[in-house]
Amino acid sequence: MEELIRRCEEIVRDVSFPTVRRWKAEHPQGKAIAYFPVYAPVEVIAAAGMLPVGLRGAGDRLEIQHADARFGSFICSIVKTTLELGLTGHLAPFDGVLFSSICDSARNLCFVLKRNFPELYVDFLHLPHNPESASSRAFLRSEYARLKAELERLAGRRIEEERIREMIARYNENRRLIRALYEWRAEEPHRIRAWELYVLVRAGDVLPVEEHTALLREAREGFARRQVKPRDSIRVILESAFCEQPPLGVIRLLEDAGCYIVDEDLTLGRRWFREDVPVNGDPLQALAESYLDRSVASSVRHDWRYPRFRALLQKVRARRAQAVIFLIAKFCEPAYFDYVLFKRELERAGIPHLLLEFEEKMYTFERLQTEVETFVESLLFD
Ligand code: SF4
Repeated sequence: MEELIRRCEEIVRDVSFPTVRRWKAEHPQGKAIAYFPVYAPVEVIAAAGMLPVGLRGAGDRLEIQHADARFGSFICSIVKTTLELGLTGHLAPFDGVLFSSICDSARNLCFVLKRNFPELYVDFLHLPHNPESASSRAFLRSEYARLKAELERLAGRRIEEERIREMIARYNENRRLIRALYEWRAEEPHRIRAWELYVLVRAGDVLPVEEHTALLREAREGFARRQVKPRDSIRVILESAFCEQPPLGVIRLLEDAGCYIVDEDLTLGRRWFREDVPVNGDPLQALAESYLDRSVASSVRHDWRYPRFRALLQKVRARRAQAVIFLIAKFCEPAYFDYVLFKRELERAGIPHLLLEFEEKMYTFERLQTEVETFVESLLFD
């Protein structure tokens, strides 16, 4: 089990994308399409015979030397490290990069990348912000059809509907396994550490879905065999790290400081749907309707039918959490906008919460550690 988790950690940390290079060597005609967080219709990319790869910046593995000149200092780190990956040749294994309408910074990065890499296929998906409108369904389906046509042009062949349905079934299976692991972790948090589940799920960003599904199954069996004693910890929900990812050390720190992380929104795109995407009928319509009706709550997706603060409160209750820790990337506007609403609702409901800020490049965690330990102690000895 430890070996499997170590392998996942290695995969996640390596910004030379060895798994993508290996896949391309095995598929000489194959193309790799990276997608920026949070969500992308990976099924359509995979159905084109391409490898969809979740791109999540470079973390602390790359010194920013060029990207600073293209962005202001008040921009989140993932935007800069993603551009730095491009400017230093790390995106060479990719034939395209896909963005979507999550925030202004991501939108700008898309077009900065496009201008700097004219030979690369760079596309921007407009995901609708009004799921209540009947037009949103037709609009999103047409947006997916446009993406499909672009991928067909790139691949030089048609993408059959049957193949998209097949991929939907494979990703459904993958997401089902992840959901089950999350459920299990919430029930027995001492058995599955949050940082382990995180690297395990995130490894799926850079692996073919079938390979990742096999890994998840192996992990499930490994976790089941594990004998671990429960610790004296408080149950917390970790919220707001849905795009830029915190250093692994921060997740470990939270657990070591006495938190059982019983749910979080890290790597949210890998478990974007609350239930399976239908595999019958028009697959693009099924993906569009699933985005509008079956998505998890997120600060980058607006749904007035079910406000995000209500989803957070429901998550707290369903997971029997005692507190919420907001872990927000520095300069992340969607997370900070929502924090104001979340805070108000948690205070109304009498649920303790703590706000922490992180950057990809953090090497010392003493201040965070003190804040978390004080918070945990205040709840344990209340
Ligand atoms: S971290 Fe926040 S601000 Fe930065 S790209 Fe992601 S959603 Fe946008």
